[in-house]
Amino acid sequence: MSHSPVPLGTFPTPVEPAPRLAAALGLGPGDLWIKRDDLTGLGGGGNKIRKLEWTVGAALAEGADTLVTTGAPQSNHARLTAAAAARLGLSAVLVLRGAPGASRSGNLALDGLFGARLVWAGEVDQAGLDAAAAAACARLRTGGARPALIPFGGSSALGARGYVRCGEELAQQVPGLRTVVVALGSGGTMAGLVAALGAGAVLGVDVGALADPAAAVAEFTAPLAAAEVTPEGLRVRRDQVGSGYATLTEPVAQAFRLAARTEGLVLDPIYTGRALAGLRAAVRDGDVRPGEKTVFVHTGGLPGLFGHPDTVAFAEEGAVAFDG
Ligand SMILES: *Cc1c(COP(=O)(O)O)cnc(C)c1O
Repeated sequence: MSHSPVPLGTFPTPVEPAPRLAAALGLGPGDLWIKRDDLTGLGGGGNKIRKLEWTVGAALAEGADTLVTTGAPQSNHARLTAAAAARLGLSAVLVLRGAPGASRSGNLALDGLFGARLVWAGEVDQAGLDAAAAAACARLRTGGARPALIPFGGSSALGARGYVRCGEELAQQVPGLRTVVVALGSGGTMAGLVAALGAGAVLGVDVGALADPAAAVAEFTAPLAAAEVTPEGLRVRRDQVGSGYATLTEPVAQAFRLAARTEGLVLDPIYTGRALAGLRAAVRDGDVRPGEKTVFVHTGGLPGLFGHPDTVAFAEEGAVAFDG
């Protein structure tokens, strides 16, 4: 089946030099560039827009009137699926892990603003979440709706096509780039970049969302890439996961503050903070070197910061009284 994407975002996104951050990391001042995929436009922006252009394009081709997807309570993907539905005049049902908690801030507040309906699936694993989404689709069909299920994180070979385009933009914007650093969650973002730029050019920093992230990336890349990609052939760092997806580790807290104070750049605690901490570690161990062109992909996630109490508290600590 051939698909075409539905336009949702604003592309190409800009690439900006980051000389002060580069120097702080131990790179040359001209070595580091930020790909601003936090500026994709719709719904507060972020990397999920590129993938949704393809997966929602397929849903529209099937005649869907309701988008159903799954995620964590602070899922950026769920928030942007809700925004895409609003933009296109569709309904959205978000199947989220856990129970309605005390905090409705961050992405959850935006989910409500976009008019999404929520299903709380309890403390279940991915299979449990998928089962709850299938049940929601069945109920929607019984009620006469035409639901389309968007995969977890928007990641599939189809969704990853959105990141093939990002890789093509980068090849034009930063000729001679050596390494693209990106957070690795559900895998579609890294997969598309690998398909466009080759496995050796993409360093994925695992955030701990999947048990075997390299296998997922290789699976999504296979139908898209000219050359064969194996999980072993991918550059993946797993040293920034910490005690889990939702914790603010010390290296991430430091990276988060560094980006803010060198470039006025706001990262998020789950994804981009881990990606920068991973880049820092990669410079320290020589995997990324001065004199090479490095691109850091800012994949968005700002609303998630405000849904993460530890990060808000850490950020607030930085404000000290000026006593002359
Ligand atoms: C989902 C997400 C990622 C990871 O992208 P995947 O395609 O799921 O690997 C990175 N950054 C942010 C802000 C995200 O929301």
